[in-house]
Amino acid sequence: MQDASSWTDGLQLAFGADQPRRMLIGGRWLESDSGQSIAVVDPSTASPIASIQRGTAADVDRAVAAARAAFEGGEWPAMNGTARERLMRKLADLIETNSAEFALLEALDGGKPIAAAHQADVLGSVARLRYAAAWAPRLNGQNIEPAVPLDMHCYTRREACGVAGLIVPWNFPLAMAVSKLGDALAAGCTVVLKPSELTSLATLRLGELIGEAGFPDGVVNIVTGYGSEAGQALADHAGVDKISFTGSTRVGKQLVRSAAGNLKRLTLELGGKSPAIVFADADLDLSVRGVLRNFTYNSGQICAAGSRIFVHRAVYEPFLVALADAASAVRVGPATEDFTEMGPLVSEAQRDRVRDYIAGAVESGATVVAGGAMTETEGYFHRPTILADTRPDMAVRREEIFGPVATISPFEGDEFAAVIREANDTDYGLSSYIYTRDLSAAHRTARLIRAGTVRINGAALDHTMPFGGYKQSGWGRENGCEGVLSFTELKTVMIALG
Ligand code: NAP
Ligand code: MG
Repeated sequence: MQDASSWTDGLQLAFGADQPRRMLIGGRWLESDSGQSIAVVDPSTASPIASIQRGTAADVDRAVAAARAAFEGGEWPAMNGTARERLMRKLADLIETNSAEFALLEALDGGKPIAAAHQADVLGSVARLRYAAAWAPRLNGQNIEPAVPLDMHCYTRREACGVAGLIVPWNFPLAMAVSKLGDALAAGCTVVLKPSELTSLATLRLGELIGEAGFPDGVVNIVTGYGSEAGQALADHAGVDKISFTGSTRVGKQLVRSAAGNLKRLTLELGGKSPAIVFADADLDLSVRGVLRNFTYNSGQICAAGSRIFVHRAVYEPFLVALADAASAVRVGPATEDFTEMGPLVSEAQRDRVRDYIAGAVESGATVVAGGAMTETEGYFHRPTILADTRPDMAVRREEIFGPVATISPFEGDEFAAVIREANDTDYGLSSYIYTRDLSAAHRTARLIRAGTVRINGAALDHTMPFGGYKQSGWGRENGCEGVLSFTELKTVMIALG
């Protein structure tokens, strides 16, 4: 483990230039057409640390044209899967070599505790990219026997779907950019990547390494700027064949309308309001640790947050006491400090949003069992907060808060069906968490939960497993083989043998 001073040595490297950081379009680093920049703020200190270009629709046009040219001509379409794998592995090696710098960028830009950012976000991205790379030479079609009485040879081909727009949110800037990029490149797409304007620094550094790895110009383009401006222009663009989006359900629905123009393909990884169910026989220590992590990891800014906790009445009181103690013990602090277990929220707006949700719940009768706001700091900090005495119709039970906040409620011993009904009583269906030692209860619950992922007894997410939502949590799956296939079209070829 590195200490904080060795992490901050990288500061010079990361912020060499005083100028707004430029955008990568067609292999060149360019300024935006707007002539405007956006300040980048460190959420641990509320201070500006850099600036980025405010990309416009005209910049998106240039980037899409570069991606189109790279898709249809030049070296990229001539590369087979094995050649793409080699390049992607080179990029993964370069991220690994520069991992400390990436961890620092993620800590300063998004407020992630630096050691965890290094391990999970940066080294996780290296592993993720190598996994995607391995799919590149393995995307085979099928040989199919036809039914018609004609001598034909028939087969399918998996082909890249074209130019992909990748719209990445601020909660896992590098990891999510790499996840989408890896799958798109493995499939043979070219891309325009739009990071969140709150957290673009790691993605821009990634762009430099993409050049160093030797990707042909225009295969990966990066346009920074506001979602409503650059993001919307990308989603609307008739030259884009697919959008892969992670973010809010509200914007996801807007993208469905944008996609209608040219019927571009859409993968939507949206919000969640995931249940965590603790049965009476659950291991108390394990379930308390897991439940706490489910809603506080990344300061709760995680789509799969287990933000509605249901605990069997028989163990409700001891569980609540243990969870409240554990929540109160979480060390909240600046992202670059060694002692920090949980960093700030990404922005002032996000911190205020969390405070408003809690205030609204308390006004409607909820009890704060642990946590609350932190007002003595400059940065956008908030303590892990647990709300009891909530009702199913309250906003804190229905809406995604995206902060370290969870509600907790007891369920009665003989009310298995009732707790399943409550768990499923949501517009979302992204994830779910179950704690029990009873195998039958675990699998029966897993079967009845309407969500894309079920995690039992603290199972970790893994990039080999498909990830995505039921209901309003999205369309399609990322990760696993499905993630790569979502960037392909399936072509049928038939030849009459005469
Ligand atoms: P958001 O508005 O949905 O933003 C997510 C991404 O989409 C960002 O890159 C954003 O860019 C971009 N974007 C915004 N409007 C767009 C548009 N009209 N067209 C194309 N792209 C657009 O989410 P947010 O406002 O940052 O956060 C609000 C809530 O969204 C959170 O509280 C949470 O509930 C949810 N959220 C979910 C996830 C997730 O992992 N599922 C991630 C982030 C947020 P800019 O940031 O540059 O505007
Ligand atoms: Mg920032």
